[in-house]
Amino acid sequence: MPAFSTQAIVLQAWPTGEADVLVDFLTPTQGRLRGVAKGAKKSRKRFANCLGPACWIRLQLYEKSTNPWVRLEAGELIDSFEAIRKDFRKWGVAGVLCELTRELVPPRDPHPAVFELLRESLQWLDGRGSAEEVGPIFQLKILRLAGYGLSLTACPVCGKAGNEFKGAVYSSLKAVLLCPECCAGEEGLRLSPGTLHSLRQADRLEAGKAFRIRLDARTRQEAEELLTRVRRQVIGRELSSAYVLRQLQEPYG
Ligand SMILES: [Zn+2]
Repeated sequence: MPAFSTQAIVLQAWPTGEADVLVDFLTPTQGRLRGVAKGAKKSRKRFANCLGPACWIRLQLYEKSTNPWVRLEAGELIDSFEAIRKDFRKWGVAGVLCELTRELVPPRDPHPAVFELLRESLQWLDGRGSAEEVGPIFQLKILRLAGYGLSLTACPVCGKAGNEFKGAVYSSLKAVLLCPECCAGEEGLRLSPGTLHSLRQADRLEAGKAFRIRLDARTRQEAEELLTRVRRQVIGRELSSAYVLRQLQEPYG
């Protein structure tokens, strides 16, 4: 497949040398790819404002079987999600979406559902979706698609159905969500029944419907704490974008 055209979402782009740009991007059918856009910093014609993070674009690519990096020949913007770029909270959440995708999706492992989830999440964030809901719901769903989904329907130890839990506890040691009886005496993060209910609902519904769920302040706080622990468990460190987002949010409450 030497030359081809594909949709893509830019996950990260950074300048190199005098005029080149290195780009990490996600495609629907080729998975996550990395490429070099030669002369992109100088060529407005071939890459008109389309290599920024979180841009949804159409790319012309050239691939050599001997080189893991593809060559970006030209790009065309489909949507830059302007409303996200004008709102610092939404921009901070878009950063988390892109960085978590980069961490969870290995290069050249096609996963069309992850592409659709990321595209739909950015569209919601750009439109009537709020940063408070799109952020955690996207994370819950991409973790599931990447094989790190939380067991929300039943306790993995005793098998008790999730809707019978009076709250739940996330055990960082076992990296699972347990019913309160099964984690007696164990350190963990307690989740209220309301949070557990919202998470189960968000997990079950397709993204477009899940983004309509409204999370109250307590649920948002517990979900963020849970997702922070799960991210650390799965990736081995905190995302730098999540750290930045917290700094952005703190002074404004
Ligand atoms: Zn149990």
